Amino acid sequence: MTRVILAEDDPAIAEPLARALGREGYDVVVHGTGQGAVDAAGEADLIVLDLGLPDIDGLDVARAIRGKGLTVPILILTARADEVDLVVGLDAGADDYVTKPFRLAELLARVRALLRRTHGEPVDEDEVQAQNIRVDVAAHRAFQDDRELHLTAKEFELLRVLVAAAGTVVSRETLMREVWGADPNGSTKTLDMHVSWLRRKLGDDANNPRYISTVRGMGFRFETPGG
Ligand code: CA
Repeated sequence: MTRVILAEDDPAIAEPLARALGREGYDVVVHGTGQGAVDAAGEADLIVLDLGLPDIDGLDVARAIRGKGLTVPILILTARADEVDLVVGLDAGADDYVTKPFRLAELLARVRALLRRTHGEPVDEDEVQAQNIRVDVAAHRAFQDDRELHLTAKEFELLRVLVAAAGTVVSRETLMREVWGADPNGSTKTLDMHVSWLRRKLGDDANNPRYISTVRGMGFRFETPGG
């Protein structure tokens, strides 16, 4: 059974959230303190971590969990949406975040996506799909409904990685590594250019994205209908 640790001290949030996660079939354990979450982290398949905990700041909780060498996915709950916190959150080893107040359906979609990414469904599948986009990795072809997309090699790789991880944030570092690898032409500016070209070919609008959202301070996310 998949165990989700919910570190949240506010019962008005923890109780309904724990019930909803339980209905999804997860074994949910609620901890009201950061120390409780750190101590229990080794048993978890995923941790939903509130930043505002009474004993230890949530970011220090995330750092302590990573400090133990654990790679368990961490989804941050935060009421502090400003960019600095997001950057710090990524440095602290979090995988994704949801800002309060959140929609339950969105949070559950993020949880599913993070678990999918870490359990099975490796990125080197033959075919990956999200919304009406299908990437046939084996044949090196990509489709929007039945229309074939004419992509460069880098755009194709970018789309493949984003679609395979659909519903979760893929960090800029991961995209650089997966798409450019040791290619000396890779730079963070190059990444932004390729994302921009890919959006144009998908007919996507960066200011009101249907497919690829920019997650400031973290990276990019390919949207899923549930997200
Ligand atoms: Ca709290």
